[in-house]
Amino acid sequence: MKNLDHVKVQVVDTPNILLKSKQDGFDFVANPYTGCPYACKYCYASFMRRFSKHKEPWGEFVDVKKWKNPINKSKIEGKRILISSVTDPYKPFEEKYKVVRKLLKELSDADCEVVIQTKSDLILRDIDILKKMKNVTVAISLCSLNEKVAQDLEAGLSVASRLNTLKKLHKNNIKTTLAISPLMPELTDWKAIIEQTKDFVDEYTFEALTLRNEFKPAIINYVWQNFHDVYPEYLVLYKGEPENYWGDLAQEIGDYCKQSQIKYSKIVFPYTATDTAKINLWK
Ligand code: SF4
Repeated sequence: MKNLDHVKVQVVDTPNILLKSKQDGFDFVANPYTGCPYACKYCYASFMRRFSKHKEPWGEFVDVKKWKNPINKSKIEGKRILISSVTDPYKPFEEKYKVVRKLLKELSDADCEVVIQTKSDLILRDIDILKKMKNVTVAISLCSLNEKVAQDLEAGLSVASRLNTLKKLHKNNIKTTLAISPLMPELTDWKAIIEQTKDFVDEYTFEALTLRNEFKPAIINYVWQNFHDVYPEYLVLYKGEPENYWGDLAQEIGDYCKQSQIKYSKIVFPYTATDTAKINLWK
């Protein structure tokens, strides 16, 4: 992980840590931080910079949330909660502030389902609480098995450490999801990822790389500089007419998972075999 001395950190008060979720499949969402120092080059959550009124670039500020009101357990009974939607909850600052640990402690005896999304092995610190929770899943995302790609695009959050984290969670009987995300056309070897992880992953999800705002040129240039042979494909997919690339790929993934008895819960592609609405990825 890169040096974080340049990141501006401040503690902010918020009345409630759980908010109603607009994300599909979740009733509530908790973002214990605003901002994310990992600053992945493809991060869609960077739009949060606008809402938080920060002038610093994405990745260079972090608000640590402090909440006063205890979580109302009856309100979340039978509900599905996501931690988090626009930040990685286990950023290095969590070691000091322990806000996610506080949140999990509050949720540990609640009758709800919790899904935690992270790329960090710091989650292993909280295995003691995770084991007490009634229904918890940890989702770790990976776009490549190539450490160099992780170094370049994901602030050096190592692939090995993410796989090791999944293994340890699985060994402790905690449900694991591997989010193959963002799935980079021609670069993410999703079959190799599944084959290498299927013994300790309970379920997979797949999400296409989308390119927005300043990340468009950043990723396209990255592909041009590092993966010259697939660059023309990116131009077709992200600037031209991709025909049925994503639909065919969704079909291939579905068939492969069925044949290999791999469980998956969602494929979020611009258009799939069942959803033919065409969405321009270059938006
Ligand atoms: S870890 Fe997640 S929230 Fe943080 S920068 Fe990367 S993609 Fe964005």
